[in-house]
Amino acid sequence: MNSALAGAEVYLLCHWITDRDLPKRFDVPFLVARMPPGQIPVPDNGEQFEPVWVNPAHALAEHAAGRFFMVFPTIRTLEHLQRYSDVNAVLAACQNEQPLFTSCPRAALTGGNESRHMEHEPPFGELALVCPDGQLGHPLDWDPTRPVRLLKNVQRLTAPNPGFMTGPGTNSYIVGDPATGHVVIDPGPDDAEHIERLWHAAGGHIQAIVCTHSHPDHSPGARPLQALCTAQTGRTPAILGLSSATTSRANSRFTPDKELQNGELVTLSHQASDGILTHTLKAIHTPGHAANHVFSGDHILNGSTTVIDPPDGNMNDYLDSLDTLALACTEHDIGFILPAHGYVLGHAPQAIAHLKAHRLQREAKVIAALQALPDGSVQDWVRHAYGDVPERLWPVAERSLLAHVQRIQTLGLA
Ligand SMILES: [Zn+2]
Repeated sequence: MNSALAGAEVYLLCHWITDRDLPKRFDVPFLVARMPPGQIPVPDNGEQFEPVWVNPAHALAEHAAGRFFMVFPTIRTLEHLQRYSDVNAVLAACQNEQPLFTSCPRAALTGGNESRHMEHEPPFGELALVCPDGQLGHPLDWDPTRPVRLLKNVQRLTAPNPGFMTGPGTNSYIVGDPATGHVVIDPGPDDAEHIERLWHAAGGHIQAIVCTHSHPDHSPGARPLQALCTAQTGRTPAILGLSSATTSRANSRFTPDKELQNGELVTLSHQASDGILTHTLKAIHTPGHAANHVFSGDHILNGSTTVIDPPDGNMNDYLDSLDTLALACTEHDIGFILPAHGYVLGHAPQAIAHLKAHRLQREAKVIAALQALPDGSVQDWVRHAYGDVPERLWPVAERSLLAHVQRIQTLGLA
């Protein structure tokens, strides 16, 4: 029996670091090697027991059926391995001796149970913001009755309007504290219960209502919330935002009490005995998803791609606004984006760069579709350029495709 380890044939596959919340932590390279024929696994009976050879798909299937216990890193590593057709493909991917991925997952509560989330998964950024040290306890369930405190002075209340276009629902954000009062961003649809919950989450003290844009899941709650404030306190908070453009659809007409200028600061302040307490929002005009879009709102979402619906939506403006937001991230050292739908996004600059790359990749596919089918219909082009997207999304994809076609024509890209 040859007991020498063939070290040159063992490769670094990935790199796992134990979650921040666990008392005992490991920093572990996972290795991969081709199994020579005729091997019999022998356990050391210290850390390993009852070894079996098992192929990844089978292990995952047995695990899903509850018959094969595996820990989180093993499950995710095997899931990752499934994207390779065979051992040769895995080993080829490992040739440069760098891990294929490194992960230090974050823990949360889902349906009351502990759940773990890797860097590329939607909840990761929110967990980094709310539980920076990895504390276990942040629930990920969407509950429209419960405001979620994301930061000391920032709460999120999600409207009870989940759906195809709204994901878990519209996120309303409440910024401020009891002394300064609050700004409510995106009161959402005209839903009496949601509006009342916003009022309570703000402790009945609302100084201003901001709408990121006029779409029906964002702005219709503004006037009823304002009316509630007036009725309850006798004071009327101003509605801030941008008037809808003439290109807006009938369900998206909106006029604020005051137009927000690009770069304008919305400030809440309170003179306390030990100094002035201030919260500041900076309005950044971000046309693209809608002509009257300000802040990040629907411009950058977590878990879905925003629709650019011309003529009110404009792809060139959308890409320019991504650049504007990327610049703001650099200028103000912004690491997190609070989207109008979905969890908080972390690694803001990278997320924006990723979005832009994704759009330009899609545009390359649209250009290819136009060149392959110059006399095709919009439906033909969607089939060609959005083949990787589920067919039920094609009617919506048509709108974004049109926006790409307009940009391609305007810039003479094809
Ligand atoms: Zn929208």
